[in-house]
Amino acid sequence: MTARTRVSLALTLGLTTLGLLAQTAARPGIDPVNLDRSVPPCQDFYQFANGGWLKAHSIPADKARFGGFEEVSERNRAVLKQILEDTSAKTTWAKGSIQQKVGDFYASGLDEQAIEKRGLSPLKPILASIEGLKQTRQLPALLAKLHRQGLPGGFGFFVRQDAKASTQYLGYLNQGGTGLPDRDYYLKHDARTQNIREQYETHVARMFELAGDSKALAQARARVVLDLETRLAEAQWTRVELRNPQKTYNKRTLAQLTTEAPGFDWDGYFKARKARLTDLNLSQPSFFLAFGKLAAEVPAAQWRSYLRWQALNASASLLPKAFVEESFAFQGKVLNGTPEQEPRAKRIEAATDRTLGEALGQLYVQRTFPPEAKKKVLEMVENLRLALRERITHLDWMGAETKAQAIRKLNAFGVKIGYPDKWKTYPFEVRRDDYFGNVRRASTHRIQENLAKLGKPIDRTEWGMTPPTVNAYYSPTMNEIVFPAGILQPPFFDVKADDAVNYGSLGFVIGHEMTHGFDDQGSQFDAEGNLKNWWTEADKKAYASRTDLVVRQYDAYEPLKGEHVNGKLTLGENIADIGGLKIAFAAYQNSLKGKALPAPIDGFTGPQRFFLGAATVWRNHIREAAQSVRLKTDPHSPGRERVNGPLSNLPEFYEAFSCGDGQPMKRDVKVRPTIW
Ligand SMILES: [Zn+2]
Repeated sequence: MTARTRVSLALTLGLTTLGLLAQTAARPGIDPVNLDRSVPPCQDFYQFANGGWLKAHSIPADKARFGGFEEVSERNRAVLKQILEDTSAKTTWAKGSIQQKVGDFYASGLDEQAIEKRGLSPLKPILASIEGLKQTRQLPALLAKLHRQGLPGGFGFFVRQDAKASTQYLGYLNQGGTGLPDRDYYLKHDARTQNIREQYETHVARMFELAGDSKALAQARARVVLDLETRLAEAQWTRVELRNPQKTYNKRTLAQLTTEAPGFDWDGYFKARKARLTDLNLSQPSFFLAFGKLAAEVPAAQWRSYLRWQALNASASLLPKAFVEESFAFQGKVLNGTPEQEPRAKRIEAATDRTLGEALGQLYVQRTFPPEAKKKVLEMVENLRLALRERITHLDWMGAETKAQAIRKLNAFGVKIGYPDKWKTYPFEVRRDDYFGNVRRASTHRIQENLAKLGKPIDRTEWGMTPPTVNAYYSPTMNEIVFPAGILQPPFFDVKADDAVNYGSLGFVIGHEMTHGFDDQGSQFDAEGNLKNWWTEADKKAYASRTDLVVRQYDAYEPLKGEHVNGKLTLGENIADIGGLKIAFAAYQNSLKGKALPAPIDGFTGPQRFFLGAATVWRNHIREAAQSVRLKTDPHSPGRERVNGPLSNLPEFYEAFSCGDGQPMKRDVKVRPTIW
């Protein structure tokens, strides 16, 4: 998933996503021109399988990363563009129809003239509310007002499934409040980080200037923003700490919250949010203790500067060109090293997907999603489920009691494929001449819709990704795996390709999501989606000793000089890659039972083609700056490590390519983790 400034749906639903994935080929299956035969497969399989492709492709000027994922995504986006152009060209759609909303939203975003003409005026009422903060005791009501419209500040509050009572919804208070991608950017002192921090301060000042502040005032305010955000960052938990579902589960009554995080009128805040709740989850108690202190101690003038920045930053893409360009100069160029911005039409297309995703998604699946794809994918899912069940039954490190629970959980997995059975509605006005207003009404509705879940039964039809998304996810509280239509197409999944390649690519993807149910986080949730232990003590220990090996393996990878993979941050994804590949291969082997061995194609056997298919899923080029951001923030390992990491642990791979002891792609048995 790409980073978004707002609280993403994936976050509110607590999903574990697949991240980057895909492959392409000029013809079905594996195209030999994509290989690099000068590198032996047992030395660096990623390079062997993808070297030709890597040499033939480079990163377009408007992208931070380019790989198989982006190739598929670009094709989906071309379909969306056509839909949006067709739909927006017509102005006679029935008012309130999905076509009217989608078409007018797109047209409003492209109407740069109207946006220029209005200048900053659409944001003025919000900025005026912020300027109205005269005393810190007014802060709760102001934050509530901003949060109701989806504007950020200080912390986040949203409703999701109660992790320990998955049949109910619960309000979650989450840490937040910072503008840079991670707390590390405020607290570390290496040259790269320091440079980004300095440029961030300059960028904040420039945005203030664009909003009408004098140069001196803008600089003074930018300093205040950096100071306050740094204090918030100091109180934030690290991303590794945030991965611990037990530590982040702290149910409190409103009265307890008031005692535990004094200095901020929580009662007043929730009243102003119109949130009727008796208890909630305090995800990071120490952050909120610190936040309460800041709320009481930091003068109102500093909060005003800080919230003014937050509102400008979150709204930049809706404002005139000068704001859009200044925002890209930092977010795109400085942070990710991307020289050029995507054309505006593409940005508005992406915004339509984010804002009216299931309205646009309906039009998308009408054009692209063939029913036979759904049937075939379901069949593969069941073959993978069978393979994982067999693996669990035969695990040598797990006792019978835990195995029975693991199988119970696996059997209970829900599966969603393609698109939702029930589409979300968008009951707010979309006007052809009001891009800013459209986005604000949409986010106000989204926040309201989320809050309205409190006290209602769980909506099991809901999706955490839109249909054109090239990705997939596992939800621990729903205990389900979900594959949007966007990923279920050639060459990810190609009816014309041989089974070996389909199992290596889409099978790997399915296995990856299934294994998330049993990774270091998922394994703490039971068949009903509750955070509840189902492991014996001995088995838990045996599991931890295996996951420790995974942490150590990935900690050693150094994709950029001096910047390592964080083995603990990426643990869940790495477990899912290692396990997913293993069960996909087992399912492939099962599919061959009772059949004649397929003849080699281009000199590669079935098992070899399986691994070539798997390797192409993760091939990509990425800019150094963007890689550095991801090493700090992305729970997924880089592409090369996502291939060589799992394969070098897998005996089935050594056998397929005759890798011998001591070769880089065959890790020593003593350090080799075999979990699922
Ligand atoms: Zn994943």
